[in-house]
Amino acid sequence: MLAQVSPPPRTMVDADALARAVFAELVRLADGFALAVVRSSRPREAHGADAYYVRPQQGRPALIVVDDELRPLPAARALAHELAHAILHAEADGVGEAQREIEAELVAFALLRSMGLDSLVESLDYVSQWATCDDDVVNAQPRVEEACGAILARRLPRAF
Ligand SMILES: [Zn+2]
Repeated sequence: MLAQVSPPPRTMVDADALARAVFAELVRLADGFALAVVRSSRPREAHGADAYYVRPQQGRPALIVVDDELRPLPAARALAHELAHAILHAEADGVGEAQREIEAELVAFALLRSMGLDSLVESLDYVSQWATCDDDVVNAQPRVEEACGAILARRLPRAF
């Protein structure tokens, strides 16, 4: 007689919990680039954006501010986007605003994807607001890969 083998009890994966873990990992990675991350209700009021990056100035460290009312997935996406700006876009580096936004969002998409989150719809929608043709996205790839490589190289094995 065969013993009845029952599968392990089902665990419902909580998407918000995963997104919160990704956010925490992105905070850790940002710290490796000397970037502090804070949650605040100010971004939307001050900048009309979900998040923004403050360059280091007058002895104050660089800072990424993320709207504290964002749900976990949009918060992780916004943080990844600003992290990309911080790493890729020096002040007055000659990179135009549209290219900056395309690069930052593609990095955010790739980072989230590598950590198990999907922002394809939102990221494509955002990139579409800035791209004038497909080449804008294709041409961004080398810098996107460079930034993703620099960030992901600092991930610990089994970070979460
Ligand atoms: Zn941006």
